Amino acid sequence: MSVNIEDPGRTHHVFKHGNYPIYKRITSSNLEEAESTQTMDCPFCNQQIQTVIRYEAGEGTCTTAALCCCFLFLTSIGPYIRGIIGLLIVFCCNSFQDIKHYCPECQKLIKAYERG
Ligand SMILES: [Zn+2]
Repeated sequence: MSVNIEDPGRTHHVFKHGNYPIYKRITSSNLEEAESTQTMDCPFCNQQIQTVIRYEAGEGTCTTAALCCCFLFLTSIGPYIRGIIGLLIVFCCNSFQDIKHYCPECQKLIKAYERG
């Protein structure tokens, strides 16, 4: 019997730039790091770069936000309450977004900080 060496769940570890992109989970201790641009040598194009930060919604965030908006339009509650709920939705959307660091030269994803 031969052993199957290729574990499909680990294929992203055997690329040429095996350790990148780095995926980290956002915690209260690394949030500041996650939200700051970082100066580093890009592992893909080897240039010294400052990472470009993009906030990207994780899976499901958009759907949830859309559903909430529909709910707001369908309800007959007062505009004041609607405003508060709207703000809550915006807040929730932001707190669910992943923070991704890209190389400005080659546009590759270097690090991704994900919401747990
Ligand atoms: Zn690069």
